[in-house]
Amino acid sequence: AITTKDLQHLFAMIAVDILAQRDHLCELDGAIGDGDHGIAMDAGCEAAARAVAALDATQTPPTAVFNTAAKAFLNAVGASSGPLYATAFMRAGAAVKDRPELSDDDFLRAFAAMAEGIQERGKAKPGEKTMVDAWRPAADAALDAWQPGASFHQCFDLAERAARRGCEATRDMTAAKGRASRLGERVIGHIDPGAASAAIVIASIAKFAQ
Ligand code: ADP
Ligand code: MG
Ligand code: MG
Repeated sequence: AITTKDLQHLFAMIAVDILAQRDHLCELDGAIGDGDHGIAMDAGCEAAARAVAALDATQTPPTAVFNTAAKAFLNAVGASSGPLYATAFMRAGAAVKDRPELSDDDFLRAFAAMAEGIQERGKAKPGEKTMVDAWRPAADAALDAWQPGASFHQCFDLAERAARRGCEATRDMTAAKGRASRLGERVIGHIDPGAASAAIVIASIAKFAQ
């Protein structure tokens, strides 16, 4: 089972992996946005990891871990990614409410709830050159693969690959949401920074699911 201690480890892993790509994410955002996406994601993930690490694992259920991460992420980030990830973590928390620890099935539902939360909060649909283009196919791939007898880590392997493909596909899109939507055809040829950071977060989750 996945415990609060495991989730503390997961948030720490995400923060490390995002930090390693911070400058790259800022460069991507510099091309079609305002250049702060790496800074925003690093600040949010670092704050979430720190807040979650400070929780007493023996006294804190998984739902409270996600809620703590949500609040910390939101408070640390002044960019659009702040409320989007805060909503994602809140929804993950709601999906595992009352669970003292998480089964693989619980964790998968929490993962799918993150994608739902991002879509509901930002109102972006797939194909609009946002982080939804990584999150939606990743959640769909994991849910599709989650059949009786399926392996948990394989579901997340497929999710990771779907996220990477989805991120890559944003290169050919024009943007319908966010800052990049003001630039019309000029954004074609550039990967969406939010999709790129989503692929990193999802890869961290897939590594955790090993
Ligand atoms: P800001 O544009 O406020 O500086 P960030 O740089 O942190 O915010 O994040 C930009 C990313 O946010 C975009 O690359 C895109 O993936 C994502 N984004 C923007 N608007 C939306 C939305 N409505 N729904 C989903 N994702 C969005
Ligand atoms: Mg930005
Ligand atoms: Mg900004």
